[in-house]
Amino acid sequence: MKIVRLETFVIGDGPQVDPDQGGVEPLACLRIHTDDGRFGFSEVFRVPPGVVQATVGGPETHFGRLLLGQEITHPERLWQLVWDAILHTNRRGWEIIILGALDVACWDLYGQQLGQPVWRLLGGVQRGPFQTPRESLPVSIIPYCTIVSDVWGGEAMFSQQVARIEQLAALGYRAFKVEPMISSARDVVELARRARRALGPARTLMVDVGYLFNDVPTAVRVCRDLEALEIFFFETPFPVDSPEPYARLAAQTSIPLAMGEHGVTRWEFVDMIDRGGVSVVQPYMTTCGGLTEAKRIVELARARGAQVCPGNWSTQILGAATVHLAAYSPITPYLEFAPAEVFDSPLRRELQAAGFPVNNGAIALPEKPGIGYELPDEIVRRFGMK
Ligand SMILES: [Mg+2]
Repeated sequence: MKIVRLETFVIGDGPQVDPDQGGVEPLACLRIHTDDGRFGFSEVFRVPPGVVQATVGGPETHFGRLLLGQEITHPERLWQLVWDAILHTNRRGWEIIILGALDVACWDLYGQQLGQPVWRLLGGVQRGPFQTPRESLPVSIIPYCTIVSDVWGGEAMFSQQVARIEQLAALGYRAFKVEPMISSARDVVELARRARRALGPARTLMVDVGYLFNDVPTAVRVCRDLEALEIFFFETPFPVDSPEPYARLAAQTSIPLAMGEHGVTRWEFVDMIDRGGVSVVQPYMTTCGGLTEAKRIVELARARGAQVCPGNWSTQILGAATVHLAAYSPITPYLEFAPAEVFDSPLRRELQAAGFPVNNGAIALPEKPGIGYELPDEIVRRFGMK
């Protein structure tokens, strides 16, 4: 099974749907085609489509030069081959994210070749009976819904985010993350309080403040007020390139700190766990460097007493790859999910409908070989962009 062609295309909602309200911005997708007529598929979140189109293609392109003609074997081999080849270029940013998407497509092909879903090839379900609460068995994958609002701060934010939580809870979703962005410290606590009241004690609640704080004492005070609300994690209180304030906050609160939506490679995650005291890391399956790299992050986090709750504020194409990591990982109680039900994005809705179904707030282990996400041609035709 040899790689014969790298294909890229772009889909999106178009400028009439605001990305801050769930619209899908122009999103590059790639396919790796092999000589037996199969292909592996991935989206490439957060890389300008023009960069993907310029670097993934024929033998004259950056990645085409490396991958065309290669045999599909264990994806870790191709990951290492590309990594070694980019040693003298940037090793971060767009280059590693595209490597990550190519790696997801390789896993998709490898699974198809062996007739197995990718989670089984990653190691199978590895949640130990001692660490798994009885109510979480048999193992299924639990998405947490990320909730945003059209406005930040004050009553309008409270009422819109709480209304969305109530709508999704009625559909059976079990875990929710509110996002009091660009808000006062008081509004952060107030939104969490109202969300907890709407959810009752049994459902899971996370809080993401989106790099809101410039000082540790304010964040400590907010965490102290949040302690009584049973917050599963507190996401990105500070800019992520500075582990020191994270470490100082972690030493003063029992709420687990979370980060990782922009994290690339295992070394950034290890640094934030070891020096930043972060105990929940949130790799994106493409951004972090692919499923190959995400598995390494799981193993490194596991040895450090941290959990991995993969991030995904993109579509359910990326969501499908994320489900496979979550199925295998012994330290992944939740994965992020941007629920199409509460956003005005036609594309997001259709991509979710084509993905793995969420029933009673859980996703069953996928059984199709590979990643198993089938993108309907109809979506490419209707939402394709230049
Ligand atoms: Mg976030």
